[in-house]
Amino acid sequence: MKKKTALVCGAGGFIGGHLVNRLKKEGYWVRGVDIKKHDFEESVADEFVLADLREDASWLKIFDRPFDEVYQLAADMGGAGYIFTGNHDVEVMHNSASINLNALNYGYKVGIKKIFYASSACIYPAYNQTDPNNPKCNEESAYPAEPDSEYGWEKLFSERLYFAYMRNNGMDVRVARFHNIFGPQGTWTGGKEKAPAAMCRKVAEAKKGGEIEIWGDGLQTRSFLYIDECLEGIRRLMNSKDFHGPVNIGSEEMVTINELAEMVMKVAKKKVGLKHIKGPLGVRGRNSDNKLIKKSLGWAPNYPLIKGLEKTYRWIDGQVN
Ligand code: NAD
Repeated sequence: MKKKTALVCGAGGFIGGHLVNRLKKEGYWVRGVDIKKHDFEESVADEFVLADLREDASWLKIFDRPFDEVYQLAADMGGAGYIFTGNHDVEVMHNSASINLNALNYGYKVGIKKIFYASSACIYPAYNQTDPNNPKCNEESAYPAEPDSEYGWEKLFSERLYFAYMRNNGMDVRVARFHNIFGPQGTWTGGKEKAPAAMCRKVAEAKKGGEIEIWGDGLQTRSFLYIDECLEGIRRLMNSKDFHGPVNIGSEEMVTINELAEMVMKVAKKKVGLKHIKGPLGVRGRNSDNKLIKKSLGWAPNYPLIKGLEKTYRWIDGQVN
């Protein structure tokens, strides 16, 4: 049987890199593309193309065949320190929107049938996420829209763009809204890292009995999804007969940031103090709502946060020390 072919955009990044590994294990022929090489491993993609996906010329080069499946994960993104300061709004909006406009424009022209788009929980309205104990993030609650960052607005625009190509041009579009994905081989330093990685790094770097800094009072809530479950969700969504999303791919195990810090300390077997300082925060509470994914894909993530943190801490501790 002929091998299925996949294009993974953002293959040099955290989720894209893991997705290439997964697709290879499933027997796909994979072309990865990114503006940079993967930071932590040699890609196992059959071909890895270095290209700037904002540029038209790049797409003409990488779309030299009609891939069976395209996974569009390339984006200008980062953790709260990158997205919520407001200092990178032009880059975030311009870069990511250009990539998505091109992916669809050139993908349609070359006859791409099936395309996955990685959206985000950041599209959900700020007004539903003010109570840390009771955030509302079910898929229908996205409108009336009021994301709390330009990153979220770009994601929402792009979701709509993908579905417009489905309605008008007949492309088979699949959209997932990821909720804080974490795991080994993710950015852990440099300003674009997210909370679990930052916490693991801080604890790994701290002396026993020392102190780590936490942005805000640490009572803001979030859920975090281990990378393997994210990949499982992506593949199930792509394989589903006729479910297009948008659908949450996230964990429903909600914790405060202080609790996250305690869990990392437990895993590290190291007790440190928490020093709360001013910093960019995002919404007060956020959690995945998994009713739709259960109903539509007959599956939902259930891997315990502590287990994912064990694996992630071990990897980050190895990077630090
Ligand atoms: P990442 O930053 O590790 O990966 C994104 C990749 O896109 C990077 O390797 C980057 O170099 C590449 N890229 C950026 N601009 C490019 C350009 N002009 N041309 C080519 N490549 C370019 O991020 P990730 O965590 O792997 O996220 C993957 C996708 O999932 C992104 O679209 C992100 O917005 C979305 N997402 C991630 C999370 C999460 O928690 N990690 C949550 C919600 C949504």
